[in-house]
Amino acid sequence: MTPTQIKSQLAKFGLSFKEYKDWASHNRNHKGAWGPVHGFMVHHTGSDNADQRELLYAGLSDLPGPLCQFGLAQDGTVHLIGWGRANHAGAGDPDVLAAVKAETAIPNDNESSVDGNSHFYGVEIWYSGSHKMTDAQYAALRRLAAAICDFHGWTEGSVIGHGEWGSPGKWDPGYAPGKMMNMNAVRADIKVTIAGGKPTNPTVPPKPLPEPKPVAPAFPGEGYFRPGSRNDYVTQLGKQLIKRGYGRFYSVGAGPTWTNSDRSAVRAFQEAQGWTGTDANGYPGPVTWKRLFS
Ligand SMILES: [Zn+2]
Repeated sequence: MTPTQIKSQLAKFGLSFKEYKDWASHNRNHKGAWGPVHGFMVHHTGSDNADQRELLYAGLSDLPGPLCQFGLAQDGTVHLIGWGRANHAGAGDPDVLAAVKAETAIPNDNESSVDGNSHFYGVEIWYSGSHKMTDAQYAALRRLAAAICDFHGWTEGSVIGHGEWGSPGKWDPGYAPGKMMNMNAVRADIKVTIAGGKPTNPTVPPKPLPEPKPVAPAFPGEGYFRPGSRNDYVTQLGKQLIKRGYGRFYSVGAGPTWTNSDRSAVRAFQEAQGWTGTDANGYPGPVTWKRLFS
């Protein structure tokens, strides 16, 4: 990933980030290899200070900076500290590196023989590790991990904690004195974030089927709707007129005998369609029928 690419990935995953000094060209590539990258390593800094940018940028007398690519402040802001090789991972277990590459379960680390700084991006989260990180930090960590995995086509299996790597005495990221977070649970959360905030196997409730559209009955013929007509079509017509809001024309409800109520209701319906003259004479034709039942 180039500096430009990481910035667009951070934006894509909704992270707020800030660029520190000449971060994009600040690295230790002159001291060793950078890449190929295989994973993303999570650290706590061991300090609760509110601004740890300079420490991570410049490093310590015996451990020159940058100490990571990403600093993660208490408010969830990602600070870009360096780009390229950084002093965060140290030497670790080749079996762990193999598992990260294969994205399989992380084995117990019991060796310190392979250079991690060339193979891992690293985030230093600004907290002591003797208590939980802030909710904002954890939410940002999930997004940051997802942003990196998304770019490389990695799964959550490419994310490890420093304490899983094989540097003796390391237990970061921690949640209590000397106690490392359950990285399998962290990876499970990152998996959800990679999937776009949705569970990967969502139980989607089945979509209800749309209501079947009533099919307009065929028009039986004009001869059924004349003074003196008495048939079920008249009843059907009257019921539909009442249903469509023309009940005010009926004092006793729809019935099989053609009445002035039917005629008045049909006329009102026809006029409501904007029809005039013989098109609004109160007797239903096929067009009125179709419109009334559709
Ligand atoms: Zn660490």
